[in-house]
Amino acid sequence: MQKLENYLCGKWITADGEGTALYNSVNGQQIALASTKGLDFKAAFEYGRQTGGQALRKMTFHERGRMLKALALHLHSIKDKFYPISYQTGATKIDSWIDIEGGIGNLFANASLRKQFADQTYYVDGDHAPLSKGGTFIGHHIMVPKEGVAVHINAYNFPIWGMLEKIAVNLLAGMPAIVKPATVTSFLTHAMVKEIEQSRILPKGALQLVCGSAGDMLDHVMCQDVVTFTGSAATGQNLKTHPKIISESVPFNMEADSLNSSVLGPDVKEDSEEFELFVKEVAKEITIKAGQKCTAVRRILVPENLIDQVQQAVSIRLAKTIIGDPTNKEVRMGALAGKEQLKDVQMQLGKLLKSSEIVFGDPSKVEVLGAKADLGAFMSPVLLRNDDPYKKTDTHNIEAFGPVSTIIPYKTLDEAIEITKMGLGSLCCSIVTNDAKIARDFSIGAASYHGRILTLNAECAKESTGHGSPMPLLVHGGPGRAGGGEEMGGIRGVKHYLQRTAIQGSPSMISAITEVYQYGAKQEYPVEHLFQKHFEDLKVGQTYITHKHTITDADIVNFANVSGDHFYAHTDETSLEGTIFERRVAHGYYILSKAAGMFVDPRKGPVLLNYGIDEARFTKPVYPGTTIGVKLTVKEKTQQEKRDQDDIKKGIVKFMVEVYDQEDETVALATILTMVKNKDQKA
Ligand code: NAP
Repeated sequence: MQKLENYLCGKWITADGEGTALYNSVNGQQIALASTKGLDFKAAFEYGRQTGGQALRKMTFHERGRMLKALALHLHSIKDKFYPISYQTGATKIDSWIDIEGGIGNLFANASLRKQFADQTYYVDGDHAPLSKGGTFIGHHIMVPKEGVAVHINAYNFPIWGMLEKIAVNLLAGMPAIVKPATVTSFLTHAMVKEIEQSRILPKGALQLVCGSAGDMLDHVMCQDVVTFTGSAATGQNLKTHPKIISESVPFNMEADSLNSSVLGPDVKEDSEEFELFVKEVAKEITIKAGQKCTAVRRILVPENLIDQVQQAVSIRLAKTIIGDPTNKEVRMGALAGKEQLKDVQMQLGKLLKSSEIVFGDPSKVEVLGAKADLGAFMSPVLLRNDDPYKKTDTHNIEAFGPVSTIIPYKTLDEAIEITKMGLGSLCCSIVTNDAKIARDFSIGAASYHGRILTLNAECAKESTGHGSPMPLLVHGGPGRAGGGEEMGGIRGVKHYLQRTAIQGSPSMISAITEVYQYGAKQEYPVEHLFQKHFEDLKVGQTYITHKHTITDADIVNFANVSGDHFYAHTDETSLEGTIFERRVAHGYYILSKAAGMFVDPRKGPVLLNYGIDEARFTKPVYPGTTIGVKLTVKEKTQQEKRDQDDIKKGIVKFMVEVYDQEDETVALATILTMVKNKDQKA
């Protein structure tokens, strides 16, 4: 029998020992063996930190993002290879699509995130902090990639998505990974890592794979490593308290069991579209991936006057679910990941049955299509009912990680919120309502115990990604029982793999470190107008000082007429009592427009366009008679990628626009965004 190789230190290694047998969960046939006996994890960590880490840290966010895009495109082009392997884990086509294409989609989403970072190897976080009266001493924050390895210990339910959603983030951040999928479905992760390795898209050492037991892996972590864990709370708590994790202060992100709820809003009527939506969503959550989803709905909360109707409607839907061989087109629910997992679900269900009754499904028998029920890890969906959620609390504490969910009545919205919180921390919950006040009260009331809340109604139903789908740009994780972890969430997720460091010094020093011009830093005054300089020739801190202009009443009247902005403070000198203005004041937008008229060089040059303004502030009233001047300073530069061969090579240049008066005080401050052509169009 084939033994899965591990990919460590740049080599595919077959480990010693007999290994653990891995089975096709549909027909029970053995597929492979997995062993990690005798593997040198210490060497793997060193290889990751030195070879992979060094290569990734040299790359900029943009280069890492393009690498992820290339990987996503490659995996997408060969995605069909993974489906037949995925079916062997019991997953249907839709389940496999979520795992395979959802995972690849995650790579794409993280690749696109590069545009939210400067084209640097490190990240400048937030704004500067003024630390002195005279402005010569300021603070800021930079974030650099940690110099360790991201260790991902994953659950068995999403062998591909589980890996890709995590490595996308650490690779973008500039950290290498060691992935340890759950042994039972590791053959699918193995197939994908083989393809990734053969593509040579990632630098050496950026990705290593362990198929089988983790052995003494965690004994080798050090302070620069990051560990993420997805699985049961019991294992997670055990690993979180590993002596090395504690002594080296290794960040440990845990995503564990979660008793997620879905609530039917008290406003919903039986004949409404929302009622249908709720029933459909809940039934889908029970059966998709055979209920082996960390985000699956485990508790279905329904207003007590509708509980029988919902129970009946969900049961009718569940009864229509065809269970069996995932390769059969009619099949809607496949097998669980393995016999062990099935046994575990049955055991947990047994515990739940002490305080809830079955209202749909029979855990002891199942009809299957295209397969033999006793050979595979099949199970019927089971709907339980608990009419006394305050006294019978097992529903809120016991997770049967399979197609099992409990329907619960509630009396008021406050009670529904309270019951969702009895799960003591969940990854997500949802409410189906068409009432904006109910949506608000529920979301604000339940948020402290939940990582994500979906409000579903007919308006968004067609495009909604559903209760159970974590999204790359949104936070995934939950407090308490759900592990207290936080993943993904766009840029927020990337920051988990970066070290945030406060930096202090003069504005000029902080400008040099961040490569972002800081207010008050030294300026350089080139002879040539900045709008005549190409992207490469512009340097952060270069400044153009304009001629001056004295504001007149006529300027204000003219601007009011041109813009149509006749706000009283600009037009009616008699209306100013009780305001901060002493006299008719110039429009802030006029000051900025006039500033543009003063700093723009009208001649055709490398500046292609102005595409917006960030952070505009009007800091002092400007009255007629005030003389203004403008300082235009290069604040930040980002080279852009060419879309295709014919595209013009160009970059984004952010300019700081400072408008000051005759007392040398700033009256307006803004950042304008321009697109500037490169001199060298070939490179
Ligand atoms: P598990 O038994 O806790 O295993 C999770 C991972 O930990 C597996 O890779 C497992 O490897 C590994 N592991 C176990 N003991 C270890 C040790 N001593 N040292 C290092 N690694 C160790 O969980 P599971 O049965 O695979 O997954 C089901 C559970 O995961 C459910 O409770 C579910 O709620 C939870 N889950 C949560 C999320 C989430 O995002 N919150 C997502 C999916 C699943 P082996 O397979 O080699 O034992």
